[in-house]
Formats: sequence, structure tokens, C-alpha cells
Amino acid sequence: MATYIKCGGEEFTFELKPIGKVCQLCKKETPIVTLSTQKLKLCKSCFSSIQERRVLEAVKKYKMFGPSDRVGIFLSGGKDSAVLAYLLRKVFPDIFFQGIYLNLGIRYYSDYAQKAVEALCAKIDLPLYVYSLPEKESFRIDDFVFTSFKDKICSVCGTIKRYLFSKLARELKLSVIATGHHLDDLISTYLTLFLSGDFESIRRLKPVNPPLYPGQAKKVKPLFQIPEKEIFMLAHLMELPLEGCSCPHGELTPAKKTKRWLSSLEEENRTIKYQLLSIFLHKFIPLLKEEKTVETFSPCTKCGEPTTSPNGICGRCRRVDLLNRVPERRLELSLEEWEKIQASPEREEWILFSLREREDITMDILSSAKEVSPDLLLEETKFFKTFKPFRKKKLLFYCYSGRLGYLFTLKLRKHSFQAYNLRVAENYS
Ligand code: SF4
Ligand code: ZN
Repeated sequence: MATYIKCGGEEFTFELKPIGKVCQLCKKETPIVTLSTQKLKLCKSCFSSIQERRVLEAVKKYKMFGPSDRVGIFLSGGKDSAVLAYLLRKVFPDIFFQGIYLNLGIRYYSDYAQKAVEALCAKIDLPLYVYSLPEKESFRIDDFVFTSFKDKICSVCGTIKRYLFSKLARELKLSVIATGHHLDDLISTYLTLFLSGDFESIRRLKPVNPPLYPGQAKKVKPLFQIPEKEIFMLAHLMELPLEGCSCPHGELTPAKKTKRWLSSLEEENRTIKYQLLSIFLHKFIPLLKEEKTVETFSPCTKCGEPTTSPNGICGRCRRVDLLNRVPERRLELSLEEWEKIQASPEREEWILFSLREREDITMDILSSAKEVSPDLLLEETKFFKTFKPFRKKKLLFYCYSGRLGYLFTLKLRKHSFQAYNLRVAENYS
């Protein structure tokens, strides 16, 4: 049984076992997957061929790229970009593809995801370019917990990523950027925007987005006709190296909530997603075209990237500027630093919490620690009730791997507590 956990906690499972006598397409092999819309029972090879054909059709129909293009694929370590890279390499062996990984410096996540991306690129023979935010720009996405964006980390992460997509595409001379948005992504975003009345953003949400200004790469979504569940099954069948989304900032966004609602509708009408896709693409978006406004771009006065901002400073630079005003961006302490604090009068200002994941861990340093249950993370009210009495203290968390303590640290920082994580196992960060 394969399991894949997404940001926000959504889970996919898939058991690899025969589900009939013969594949309903080739009539030869043993079927192991069901195509969700047609309820066809297929073998691995026929299932993969159908997905390859969908990508081929999407690229041709929407003229996503041609032989002279250089196509960039931003890889996250997750299933969507992995399947995108796998299918594009397989279906278009003669096109130049460049894999790119943005290491955003998110502790207990970015380095693991990078390893999955490196293994994927080695497996499918895709050149990889790694851009490390901490190394190149001396900040991490985590650092935004010290700014007014502390409870909107995913939004600020999106702004930084979009800026880097455009900048790196230009530096690497890429004419097209392919993203792993699939059918469920597109429909849930359409519906979320529709319900909020943001029709202008719906207009921009198409399988192909031409450049907004000269020199910008075209953005394409070759997987937009493939349901998310089938992407997960293909990733598993093709044994693609993956890192499930274990980003410590993962949130349940409105679009993710819409996705859940959509999945329940699908139980009654299995073609609902395709019906909605057709309505949005062929009926609704054409109606909105008349509303088009011309945006004027000028270079950001700080970074030089094109922006429509009236004050001349792009969204990325406005956010990064906030970090420059933070005197100290420390979220973790080493064991040595803690030992020094313990031996000093400063110890009075601190309270140490232990999140025991493993009973066998005993450390002298923890003798004064207050035990808290890792389950607190799942109980919002109890969580804040537990820590409220310590609002004036410096809170330090210990757990064996460092990851759980870091989750507590981030959650409390987002609510303006002075929380820190004790980094014990260097190899985990
Ligand atoms: Fe960025 Fe949020 Fe995704 Fe983490 S979960 S990588 S912070 S968008
Ligand atoms: Zn800028």
C-alpha cells in the first residue's frame, strides 16, 4: 500500500494488486488501476499510455511548445512536478527540458525535497539546476515568521517563487515554463475564485499563459486534463522518487477545502470535473475576455524585475525589505548555546519543553524539561491554553529529530511567542 500525504493533511493511498482478469484495453496484461472517469480497468502500460496521450494532445492543441523551445520544469519534490517531468521527457524526447529546484531554506523540508528531486532527475535523465535561497540571498522562507507575514507564509512563499520563476527562466534562457497543475488544481482554483467574485484572476487561469511582457517565458500546464489521483497512481507505478509535502508551513488553503468538496461531488457524478473544466474554458472565460485591462510594467527600482506596482517596488522586494528590519532571525539553538544559557542567570527567562517521541532518549539536559504531548499540534484550543501562561518567557522545544520541536516553534512564532527549537541532531536540519 502506497501512501502520499499532501500539505494540509490530504492523503492518497493506492494498493498495487490485480483488480480483474485482463486489461480492458490491451486484453492481455493484468489490470491494476481504474481510470476514474470511464471506470476502465487497465494494466500499468495502458494506463501510462493514456496519460502520455493526454499530455501529447494538450501540448499540441494549445501549442504549448515546439522544437525550438527550451522548456523549464520547476521541481518541488512532490508528485505533480515529478510526473510532469517524467511524462514530458517520455513523450517529447527531442525537446530540451531543464529541471530546476528552488531550495527555499525551509528547515526539516527543503534539503530532503532536494534529495528526492536529485534522484528523480538521475532516474529520468533530466539536467538539474539548483537555486539555494539561503546561499544566494541569505534568507529563508522561515524567516518571514519574524514579519507581519508570519501567518501568511505560503502567500509570501508564492510571491518569492513567482519572482524566481521569471528571473531564472530568463537567466537560463528558457522560453517556456511548464508547471504541474492538474485537473483538480485548476477546477478547485476556478471555483474558489468564482465564489470570491475574482473573475479577473479566472481569466488568467488557462492551460497556456502567454508572456505578459517581452522576455518573459510562456507558462504552460500540460497536466491540466489529468485528475490528481491518477497523477499519484502514475508516480507510484513508475516508482518516481518523491518527498510527500512535509513542509512545516503547509496550510489548508481555501482551494484545498474546495478540492475536498469537489471530491465528494465526484462520488455522485464522476465526470463533474471535466464538465466544469469545459464550462470554464469554453463558456465562462470567453465571456470575460472583454474585461481585459492592459497592464503597464516597469522595472522594479530595487531588483530590476518588471512590476506593475504603482510605487515602483515589486511585491518580492517589499517583502524582503521587511526582513532587513528584523534584528535577529534566530529560530534554533544548538545544544552548546543552551548549555551556556543553563549555566547563566539568563536561565530564569527560559522554559524548556520536551516532546518525547522515543522513550529511550534520556539526556541530563532534559531533567528540568516540562513534558508536552506532540498531539497538542492537532488541538488548537488546548495548544494555546497550554502555552498562554508562558507568553512572557522564552520557550525552547526539544524532540529527538528536531522536526516536531520546529513545528511547535513555528506555530508559536506565528502567534508572537518567543519560541525556539533545540537543534540536537545536526543531520536532521
Ligand atoms: Fe511554500 Fe507553503 Fe508550499 Fe511550504 S507549503 S513550500 S511555505 S507554499
Ligand atoms: Zn523587486
